[in-house]
Amino acid sequence: MKIKRIIFLFISFGILSACAVTSNRSVLVNKGTPVDIRDINSSDKGPIVLKKIIAADWLADREGLINLKDQKAVAAGLQSGKESIQIYFYVIDHPKFGRYVIDTGLGDIFRKDKKEWPVSSIVASQMNLGEMKIHTTSKEWLQKESKKVEGIFITHLHLDHILGTRDFPVGTTVYTGQNEPGDSRFLHLFVQGSTDSLLGHDTILSELNFLGKDSAPIKFLDFFGDQSFYIVSVPGHTEGSIAFLIKSTNGVQLVTGDTCHTSWGWLNNVTPGVYTKDLERNKMSLDLLQSVATKFPKIIIHPGHQSIPTPAK
Ligand SMILES: [Zn+2]
Repeated sequence: MKIKRIIFLFISFGILSACAVTSNRSVLVNKGTPVDIRDINSSDKGPIVLKKIIAADWLADREGLINLKDQKAVAAGLQSGKESIQIYFYVIDHPKFGRYVIDTGLGDIFRKDKKEWPVSSIVASQMNLGEMKIHTTSKEWLQKESKKVEGIFITHLHLDHILGTRDFPVGTTVYTGQNEPGDSRFLHLFVQGSTDSLLGHDTILSELNFLGKDSAPIKFLDFFGDQSFYIVSVPGHTEGSIAFLIKSTNGVQLVTGDTCHTSWGWLNNVTPGVYTKDLERNKMSLDLLQSVATKFPKIIIHPGHQSIPTPAK
């Protein structure tokens, strides 16, 4: 209660302004080839071996994960409550360009006592981090793998997507979407310290440049330049959220990040709820991902925190 009262006082007097999600340094990097949605390679398969790793089972508030005020959610009778979700990271093996990961899973330190976790106790309790049931930590996964990780892509800088960053070797390039490190919200005042700590204070973030000539926004970057791995700019959930369209040996796959957290959200084209910064922009970005998906009838979709069940054959 005391903390709530202090926050209220700060807001009342307007003496606090919004705060960036991290105070870590970042640099803008020009990587990949800008492409238009019409130019996306239409083949159903590609050279990348994609693995999805389940780091933990977890619980979160449905009103955060799904916009319960959306007409479709109302019609479906969705109510607030806890939703079972999972924390993932993805491994991208390109035959020529090597191994990359998307998001960072869960750090080994979360096997230890809560007092040692690199997040503040307020944040840990607000996020229900104590409810996580660990499947594997990133360190445990890395110990079984000999291949070097060339780079890490972060779908966005919410804490549940960077919990394992420090298990990866120091100096591994960490890519984010453009403007993500500077994403400013009042809430970040309470989160920034934990974000910095999870990333490692010396980690310099590489912001992918999504601005083309004449500062026109770019939606798709062909990262390797061989039409196998497209990074999609999907602002809304956060300022610099990114998603991934991957031409894998198992077919085309889409990693949405938290532009859509849940299976229900994807199947009904309904955005997340209160966890999203800008619902309107989130919807535009979700619509963009849905229109990409319609180009590939057999596409496999990976929402941010659930897996869509595949129909029994
Ligand atoms: Zn998330």
